[in-house]
Amino acid sequence: MKIQRPRGTNDLTPDRSPLMRFLHRTFLDVCDRYGFAQVDTPIFERTELFTRAVGEETDVVSKEMYTFDDRKGRSMSLRPEGTAGVVRMVLENSLMHGGGNLRLGYWGPMFRYDRPQAGRYRQFHQFGVEALGSASPAMDAEVIGLLVEVLGHVGFADTTVELGSVGDACCRPAYLEKVLKPVLKGLGDRLCATCRDRAETNPMRVFDCKVESCKEALAHAPRPMDHLCGDCMAHQERVEELLTEAKIPFKRDKALVRGLDYYTRTVFEVHYPALGAQSALGGGGRYDRLMEQLGGKATPAVGFSAGIERILIAVETEKTVEAADLGSRGAYLVLLDAKGEAAATRVATSLRELIPVEVDFSGRGMKAQLKTSNAKGVRFALILGEDELAKAAVTVKDLDSGEQVTLPESELKEFIKALG
Ligand code: AMP
Repeated sequence: MKIQRPRGTNDLTPDRSPLMRFLHRTFLDVCDRYGFAQVDTPIFERTELFTRAVGEETDVVSKEMYTFDDRKGRSMSLRPEGTAGVVRMVLENSLMHGGGNLRLGYWGPMFRYDRPQAGRYRQFHQFGVEALGSASPAMDAEVIGLLVEVLGHVGFADTTVELGSVGDACCRPAYLEKVLKPVLKGLGDRLCATCRDRAETNPMRVFDCKVESCKEALAHAPRPMDHLCGDCMAHQERVEELLTEAKIPFKRDKALVRGLDYYTRTVFEVHYPALGAQSALGGGGRYDRLMEQLGGKATPAVGFSAGIERILIAVETEKTVEAADLGSRGAYLVLLDAKGEAAATRVATSLRELIPVEVDFSGRGMKAQLKTSNAKGVRFALILGEDELAKAAVTVKDLDSGEQVTLPESELKEFIKALG
């Protein structure tokens, strides 16, 4: 029996890699323009980092982590998200030493043991940014703007941001104790057993429940946005004003709660409805308490993460990216005589200063090699056969126009350059 990849994982096959690279380049480029430096953290961390940062009661930590003991019996987990590791890195390397602002971006694999379906995997990839050190609503708007800009560059210019607030240490405790808990108690058996437990331990998590009867029972339950303190409301309104000014479409969504515990105030998501049940392309929010929770100094922060596979599916479905955006189209060198190997390498090496060149060393016939060059979508087929070799020449076939000429090898580079 052939061994197959684990359920819920994906291979990046060569047909998709140009698009993946395009998305990555786009993300890096937008980050550069906004001053976000790229960082990377380990794929596994001490389990405690995630229980403390993301929250023990969240689905992500309680049900979905890949956790194992290392050889010395220490509990480790594959990272289910990126923020906890980045904040740990900031603390461990004293990157906020002396205050100021820190803007960081990341791109990499995340792991969650969930039931796989279209757009939901056990190993998936996220890119994200974290802006630390600013409590200003302008930072929230800028981070949202960055995500919207990346999505715009890959062809989604009309995404709408869903924007809400989960309150802060001033208003959330009173909302939870005096408003939400009594309502949940009143719902009693209409909630599933897990939600009845959560009603005591971490009441806001009930809004995450996927059980239909819970969703119905909670449809009209009061949300944190109905009970924000003055400061949180002012923050929310300022973010909305700034987004309006920046012409970033958003919709206030008071029902928005996110699956991770660390959020305070602003939370947001960007959806692509055609993806169905898993339509969120990305989301994030403010997490002003997280640095403190992980043992650092209180530091306001805001960030987002976006699902790379979901963005790729959306781009492929809508065909929003042209082949021409995916990189410069090069040449395919059709080599028809093994005696020409050295000449082929010489020609390719010289041309690679201008365009990508792939040499076909397969020894197949002209027809098969030309078929491959067409399938690759290259601009030029360069033919080196017995006749060309005898004259130190190369035949160039422009696959766009169909025109073909044979030129001395010494003139090839100038000829290609002139064609742009
Ligand atoms: P989260 O870290 O849960 O806020 O997720 C941020 C984004 O990552 C989501 O909007 C999705 O696009 C993506 N994402 C989250 N979980 C998965 C998953 N299991 N498979 C694929 N993408 C995911």
